[in-house]
Amino acid sequence: MSTLLSVSGAGFTPYEVEVGRGVIAGLGVQIAALTGGRVVVVSDETVAALHGPAVLASLESAGLKPRILTVPPGEASKSFAELERVIDRLLAYELDRKDIIVALGGGVVGDLTGLAAALYMRGIDFVQVPTTLLAQVDSSVGGKTAIDTPRGKNLVGAFHQPRRVTVDIDVLATLPPRQLRSGWAEVLKHGLICDAPFFDWLTDEGAIGATGDAAALERAVIRSVQIKSAIVSEDEREAGRRALLNLGHTFGHALEAELGFDETILTHGEAVALGCAMAFRYSAALGLCSDDQARRAVAGLAAAGLPTSLAEVGDVGAEALVRRMAGDKKAENGRLTLILARGIGEAFVERAVDVASLAEFLRSEGAR
Ligand code: NAD
Repeated sequence: MSTLLSVSGAGFTPYEVEVGRGVIAGLGVQIAALTGGRVVVVSDETVAALHGPAVLASLESAGLKPRILTVPPGEASKSFAELERVIDRLLAYELDRKDIIVALGGGVVGDLTGLAAALYMRGIDFVQVPTTLLAQVDSSVGGKTAIDTPRGKNLVGAFHQPRRVTVDIDVLATLPPRQLRSGWAEVLKHGLICDAPFFDWLTDEGAIGATGDAAALERAVIRSVQIKSAIVSEDEREAGRRALLNLGHTFGHALEAELGFDETILTHGEAVALGCAMAFRYSAALGLCSDDQARRAVAGLAAAGLPTSLAEVGDVGAEALVRRMAGDKKAENGRLTLILARGIGEAFVERAVDVASLAEFLRSEGAR
């Protein structure tokens, strides 16, 4: 049994997100319905070894003749060099616009493959088969694709929506526990943004999802995809409401950058968790949300084994963090935009955060 969710919006063809256990077995039939042509699976070496055979078997059993193309695992593959190599292979395979590309992997593979698909012959269809929890609840839905440059992350990209997303909960069984917890941070984030009962469930009987319980994971992924797709449907290009999905990200991204994007110190999901904790404490400090709500938000994140204080990650400077948060540009008139909250499930976009008060708050959090 699987659950079908639909993503639609003014600017793109609607598509389905299928969530369930073992759904990769049906992937071939679904893709055969989208194309009679060729299929190229792009993956990373780790995921290709673990889950490539099942994906290829499913495609072959539907009469397709797939090829698989791999990139090295890790963020470094979101580069011009790998993008060029992937596109060069697609050209060598003589793919045309009737053919289809499958992104099998985490957010790195999804972002790189999505961008290659957006660029190849001005746009070719692609299907997301996300294999990390982060990719299942976040990056595979919504059509943002990108690579990094030495000047920063995700600076070169395109909006290119997938034709379908196939989310198989069973592939999470091979995911290292720290990666699972990192994805759980994005799940908790969805509750913190707009669904307090969901957050309560995630921190109570649903909490076993963070340690791999498949039924809890399935329910958490379904609700997360519903929340993300509802927001994307309203605002694909992040003109307004989609910015809510950045809860915890402005703090988190600044921390990742200050720590040199070193995943051994802080993964992206851990940075988001710490960022959410800081966003709630800052909201409480500004009198926007009660101390009790902030405490509950932080306790829920900490109970999942995620970092919630600067002391857990290292030494960072308050001014340096503020500069990063302002996007390396000077904040406009001493103000910047942050996602804050009036309570759990009540996040909002605050476009006039006072930089001086933010720096003071960061010092109260233990920043230099
Ligand atoms: P990732 O793709 O690097 O995967 C993490 C690691 O897990 C890799 O080493 C990978 O080989 C391994 N892995 C993946 N699936 C596995 C499985 N089932 N079993 C065992 N190992 C597995 O990282 P990620 O956290 O999935 O994604 C991070 C990326 O996503 C970042 O580049 C970020 O910018 C991007 N992102 C994009 C969006 C978006 O909207 N496009 C949103 C959030 C994050």
